Amino acid sequence: MTNDKIESERKYECHKCWVEMKKEEVETFGPNIIIDVCPKCKGIWLDKGELGKLLKDRELTNYLTKHIGTKSRSPMVCPRCGMTMDIEKADDIEVDVCLNCGGVWLDKDELENLKEKSEEGFKPDESAKFEEMEEERLYKKRNSALSNFFRKFTK
Ligand SMILES: [Zn+2]
Ligand SMILES: [Zn+2]
Repeated sequence: MTNDKIESERKYECHKCWVEMKKEEVETFGPNIIIDVCPKCKGIWLDKGELGKLLKDRELTNYLTKHIGTKSRSPMVCPRCGMTMDIEKADDIEVDVCLNCGGVWLDKDELENLKEKSEEGFKPDESAKFEEMEEERLYKKRNSALSNFFRKFTK
């Protein structure tokens, strides 16, 4: 319980405006959650798992936060852990996801746009994930057996 408390009192800074983000309680389909909102640009920071609670669309949430590969395509640095982030897309909506802690950055209106997508019955294109799943697969392989990795590419 103590850890949870510290976590919820943690303050983040908006990576765009460099101002402290404000805690905001939002209603979800389950118990309310506290999210971090930038008072200036209205960007939102969601810790791991929070996007799922807000969207209640498992498929879309998983699509955006799982199999995100190992390469960073985003210039953003995670406000939570300081690690690199990647850009994930649902059609025209681009969100930044931390490769390390799984937190998600949403610009103004992106949460609403994602909810709309979900209500419209958006079906993620799994084939777009192919490259990133391949990256993850290679990354794991590289970690477990470095020699195998090189053999595969020198053949
Ligand atoms: Zn901001
Ligand atoms: Zn992070």
